[in-house]
Amino acid sequence: MTTKQELKKLLKQRFGFPGFRPNQEEVCLRVAEGADVLLVMPTGAGKSLCYQLPGLIREGTTLVISPLIALIEDQVAALQKWGLRAHRIHSGRSRGESNQVCKSYLDGELDYLYIAPERLSVPGFVELLARRKPGLIAVDEAHCISHWGHDFRPDYRLLGERLPALRPAPIVALTATATARVQDDIVTNLNLQDDERFIKGFWRHNLAAETRECPKPQRHDRVIDLLELEGSLPAIVYVSTRKETEELEGKLKDRFKTEIYHAGLEPDHRARSQSRFMAGEAEVVVATIAFGMGVDKPDIRTVIHTSLPDSMEVYYQEVGRAGRDGELARVYLLFGWADRRLLEFLHSRNYPPPGFLARILKEIPEQWTAMEDLQPRWTGADEEVQSALKQLYNHGAVGWTSDDRFKRLAGDKWRVTYRQQRSHRLAQIEDVLDFARSGRCRMNALVRHFSIREAGEKRCGFCDNCAPEDSRSRRFRQPTPQEERWMGDIVENLERRDGVSVGKLHGFMFPSARVDRPYFEALLDCLARAEMARTEEDAFEKDGRTITFQRVFLGRRSRPKGELWVEALK
Ligand code: ADP
Ligand code: MG
Repeated sequence: MTTKQELKKLLKQRFGFPGFRPNQEEVCLRVAEGADVLLVMPTGAGKSLCYQLPGLIREGTTLVISPLIALIEDQVAALQKWGLRAHRIHSGRSRGESNQVCKSYLDGELDYLYIAPERLSVPGFVELLARRKPGLIAVDEAHCISHWGHDFRPDYRLLGERLPALRPAPIVALTATATARVQDDIVTNLNLQDDERFIKGFWRHNLAAETRECPKPQRHDRVIDLLELEGSLPAIVYVSTRKETEELEGKLKDRFKTEIYHAGLEPDHRARSQSRFMAGEAEVVVATIAFGMGVDKPDIRTVIHTSLPDSMEVYYQEVGRAGRDGELARVYLLFGWADRRLLEFLHSRNYPPPGFLARILKEIPEQWTAMEDLQPRWTGADEEVQSALKQLYNHGAVGWTSDDRFKRLAGDKWRVTYRQQRSHRLAQIEDVLDFARSGRCRMNALVRHFSIREAGEKRCGFCDNCAPEDSRSRRFRQPTPQEERWMGDIVENLERRDGVSVGKLHGFMFPSARVDRPYFEALLDCLARAEMARTEEDAFEKDGRTITFQRVFLGRRSRPKGELWVEALK
């Protein structure tokens, strides 16, 4: 039997699935053949099978590293239900249980062994595993390795050092969220051979995305409008703070069965919110970023964001929860310039200046020292000190125990990586703002972020840029002949003064304010959607303050591809 036939047979026999999902077969085959592979597919695409199935073909146990105990428990339970020999070792298990599992592993009685990454730092553990080398190593949520990713975990840094002892087993690294930069980091850190990457399945054919600039005080009313449209429920509304979950709940609860979810709620409150939503007893959940893990409800029809998220990776994950059943689902992003200022403020709090970190570090001795002995030496706001410690730890400058003792570690590589990460995070905020304001097909812009190849020049055909006439968050109409002439004039002006500021162009073209500024910007947006113009932000310093403004440039088309649509402002 060929490997391909064998995989097919095991898929049915052991997992009970009638066939492969897209891309699974190709990946399983390469893994079964012993290749190192980086697999990036969206959540729910079925990545686990891509190591679970070929793991059965390869001799020996499949070792799986996974960051969250809850994920490990779910996966092990599912495998055991299928009659497979799966076990796990993590901090939630007793020493006796762990010893028993180690013994089974060494006796060759396990198909799968799941471990949490911090196990790798337990002295002797890797050596023990190395006494009987695994047949395959899977690193789940591999983006946690990279400080370019949005969920960097220091424990994952150990992988690069420890896994070589368990080679020659091939490594499969899996994640749902990795930009090109994060992918590079994973490949380098894990030392994946031959750099085989499968980046697939990001284009979602049933998500209609819209963005709408909207002043903050009006956004909750817009949320109500959108949720009241036919076919909008069930829905998730992502908000930026815990407090906002409660405010919005207050406005929604008379109209919709509403639950809230955030990390500050009691665990049983959170569990209740989630299970009521999953069971269809709640129609709307108003949540912070904390809501999402394990939310695989297939029929979510709407995801609304009431402000800008802080990265496209997070945004993709959150909107990706809509429409898992393949039926049409809509996602809306409400945003404004004020959001950026808030995100930048949060950024400065989470990523203090490198000089501040250096001052904190200087006071930490090379021997383990308790927090209370260090505190008096540090000057600075409590929150800022906390952020600095967290970053120093993340970047390998200090050791930090669970009972809050610290010590300074040798080397100053942290300076480089911290600076990089700090500016990268700022750039990510810009990316989200660019996405929100772009005239490009929204799905294309989303997918482009992960895979330029997959995005290509495709258009989804039903986002607010592809089909403004069908937009649900804004109303569009065709331009009048007068407006078409004005837009022609704008393009002509840009041919002569490309990159002029929006304010100047407006003042120059309409000195009598016959076309007011919002109306003028609606015309520019219309041109931007047709890719005949584009705007970019610029800034200058005045009296020590940074003033931002918009410049407008010629776009890449000289005439619209389809019809022109202008937002009906009133
Ligand atoms: P991911 O890790 O990519 O988010 P999972 O591996 O957790 O996704 O798989 C999501 C769900 O899809 C699981 O319930 C899994 O059992 C199911 N699944 C995976 N592959 C198949 C398949 N070929 N046929 C049917 N269901 C599948
Ligand atoms: Mg997974």
